[in-house]
Amino acid sequence: MTRSIGEIASYHAHVYFVPGEASEASARLLREEVGDRFAVQLGTWWDRPVGPHALAMFQIAFAPDLFAGLVPWLMLNHKGLSILIHPNTANQRRDHVVDPIWIGTALPVDETVLADEDGEAELRGAVNTTPTVTP
Ligand code: ZN
Repeated sequence: MTRSIGEIASYHAHVYFVPGEASEASARLLREEVGDRFAVQLGTWWDRPVGPHALAMFQIAFAPDLFAGLVPWLMLNHKGLSILIHPNTANQRRDHVVDPIWIGTALPVDETVLADEDGEAELRGAVNTTPTVTP
């Protein structure tokens, strides 16, 4: 069955890094740069793997209408970091494992911790950035 993009309530970009290595500083800088440029919700800074994620990371939650601005910007400015971008629809496992895109090197995703049943699609949540720079 052909699916509608109306299924996508929001997107996440997960930015991965290794604590104590150069990638951590790159991720901190990228987080600042995104916050300066885009109205998004920047998530918790996790310095260890959590959930299905194989490395430390932070999450950028964003509304569907930001995709065409933010994702190309991340393509050009990811500083060598791996970034997982997935839609948020009703099925988390499918969103993370079957339907995502990667910027940089793709990493493993532990699908066993993700629900493979339909639930509520996750909305972006409250914007917690105040962009002042044009991307
Ligand atoms: Zn996510």
